[in-house]
Amino acid sequence: MQKSPYNATVNGKILITPDLMVLRVRTDEPRNTFKAGQYTTIGCLAAEERSPNSVVNLEQPPPDYLITRPYSIASANHETQDFEFYISQVKSGQLTPRLFALSQGSRMWVDDKILGVFSLNDTPEGCNIVMVATGTGLAPYISFLRSHAREHTAIKLAVIHGAAHPWDLGYYSELSFIQSNFPNFYYFPTLLRADNNWNGLTGYIEEHLEAGILEKSGIDIDPEKTHFYLCGNPKMVDSVSKFLSKYNYEKHCTGKKGSLHIEEY
Ligand SMILES: Cc1cc2nc3c(=O)[nH]c(=O)nc-3n(C[C@H](O)[C@H](O)[C@H](O)COP(=O)(O)OP(=O)(O)OC[C@H]3O[C@@H](n4cnc5c(N)ncnc54)[C@H](O)[C@@H]3O)c2cc1C
Repeated sequence: MQKSPYNATVNGKILITPDLMVLRVRTDEPRNTFKAGQYTTIGCLAAEERSPNSVVNLEQPPPDYLITRPYSIASANHETQDFEFYISQVKSGQLTPRLFALSQGSRMWVDDKILGVFSLNDTPEGCNIVMVATGTGLAPYISFLRSHAREHTAIKLAVIHGAAHPWDLGYYSELSFIQSNFPNFYYFPTLLRADNNWNGLTGYIEEHLEAGILEKSGIDIDPEKTHFYLCGNPKMVDSVSKFLSKYNYEKHCTGKKGSLHIEEY
């Protein structure tokens, strides 16, 4: 019999909506320390069941095929054996319908390696940090805030989170709590499909940037003073990058330092 590739156990699953979840996983062995903002690769066998609300995928890998995809780590960087992921289901996808069918105690696979250059704590000292996300692109910022929020009292930190409905705003309570306890932290959730019960921001992230939402909180859009992190939907990343290029923001990538840091999903 073939040896199971599994090396981790699901120890928590919170469904925020039928297609959005927080998944907590304990690895059999601890991983190396990592930087808040990085990602790892997780997976499960094609033999695993798909969630009941997924749609049939015509591509059928063999049952012993390990389906793997990268996910940003949402948990704090001192937790090297208990990992949290914030995952949205792609109903026709290969891995996410199987992850959504897992339950407490299910076994799965987590890579030994933790990778990525999207590392928020490398921002030059004294620079404000603006974290822009759509959907599950919020995950690396949750890791950063849980790991480092207390160390950064001398700069301003802001999270701008775009989602469709109020119920898609995962971590709303946690971010609202941080905002009410840290005077240097600003949380701007904005919705594209808000109902009448929502009295917060609506519309696209770049519209709020253009309207001066950051300047009103004392955060200058200036590469010398403020670093921007963009994570999530490529369309948001593209339009916010274009907006920031007017202010001379330059993309940070391997081998080149810049004030604009990007992770696309
Ligand atoms: C560095 C990195 C970090 C990531 N972190 C996260 C994370 O924290 N949370 C998270 O939910 N995802 C994250 N992703 C995306 C993730 O790796 C998968 O691509 C995603 O979950 C879909 O996997 P799947 O196997 O279900 O779908 P697949 O079988 O890979 O894709 C099926 C189809 O859906 C499309 N598709 C792929 N992704 C999406 C999407 N997000 N929304 C809509 N359509 C899509 C594809 O174009 C494809 O046609 C990350 C990606 C990268 C590169």
